Amino acid sequence: MKDKIWLSSPHMGGAEQKYVNEAFITNWIAPLGPNVTGFENDLEDYLKEDTHIAALSSGTAALHLALILLGVGPGDEVICQSLTFSASANPIVYLGATPIFVDSEQDTWNMSPEFLEEAIIERIKKGKKPKAIIPVHLYGMPARMPEILSMAEQYDIPVLEDAAEALGSSINGRRCGTFGAMACLSFNGNKIITTSGGGALASKTFQNKADAVFLATQARDQAPHYEHTQIGYNYRMSNICAGIGRGQMEVLDEHIALRRRNYDFYRSALSSAGCFSFLQEPPGYFSNRWLSCMLIKPDSGLKSEDIRTHLEELNIEARPIWKPMHLQPVFKHAPYYGSQVSEDLFENGICLPSGSNLENEQLERVVEHILKF
Ligand SMILES: *Cc1c(COP(=O)(O)O)cnc(C)c1O
Repeated sequence: MKDKIWLSSPHMGGAEQKYVNEAFITNWIAPLGPNVTGFENDLEDYLKEDTHIAALSSGTAALHLALILLGVGPGDEVICQSLTFSASANPIVYLGATPIFVDSEQDTWNMSPEFLEEAIIERIKKGKKPKAIIPVHLYGMPARMPEILSMAEQYDIPVLEDAAEALGSSINGRRCGTFGAMACLSFNGNKIITTSGGGALASKTFQNKADAVFLATQARDQAPHYEHTQIGYNYRMSNICAGIGRGQMEVLDEHIALRRRNYDFYRSALSSAGCFSFLQEPPGYFSNRWLSCMLIKPDSGLKSEDIRTHLEELNIEARPIWKPMHLQPVFKHAPYYGSQVSEDLFENGICLPSGSNLENEQLERVVEHILKF
């Protein structure tokens, strides 16, 4: 059996160990220190737009704190894209609020502005204005932010971007994570860059960052003894992990270029088969191509799940598209606005091996087996 081809595995650039060693030499083995500040500065410089970053233990923690800062509490409603990883929606429920799921549109696979408006109007009619809107930049493809932001402004509802998969993606040069009032980033093991596990909250105001750091470090008030007027969390990023992050930032753009190479390779090698279609960038949209995904045309007679299991037998890891949240047993009582788009994407889509560390020979092997199949 040939070596396993992973969906998306960590890819170190080389400088990570230098930063981690510095942490050891200076004994900053703690959830604070020069690497944490350095990593935050690197991300702020990268995202631009005067963004403020709080480095945290995960992307999920970032979403949780952002929802707290937006005042979400028991009985509230929060609109969330249905086609996503469960971590986008779980923090809504941590706070006793209800997710309102919205379908995707074809062009980006992300939140449909039309169904979003339908959801907002109907929830307001039912007597509850949603407290936030969570669009997701799935697989690195930016959501329709201009349309979503203008609707959010019209109804005066803050936008919390889930940019966990989209570091380095942009619309007309403006980077994902800088559109909403706040955004989450993730550095989990299989994301475009990794800190082994970690995340960040990006916000437009320094106050939000300060409040997030306060909550993430157990909400200690200013006092020599331990004084608390609020419930806190243990969500800060460790200085060791942040050291890995600093090294990863040095190779981020290079890794994006390699992931885009994967996508271009698959698209040119597989399009001619006539059975597959690929998610393309709308004009002005730039995707980091975190994962290369394709759709199997329903009239081809092929099933995405059959392709996935076939590849699995050959030691090649592919993955189904995220199962929409409105189809998940745990969210079966949550309201949903939309039609069949996300369900069809789930049914017919597949994510191909997409790591920035894949060799040409491995990409060719994937393509060869798909074509043979
Ligand atoms: C990975 C991911 C998250 C969560 O990030 P963690 O760092 O794993 O907590 C949230 N949303 C999406 C869309 C993700 O892919």
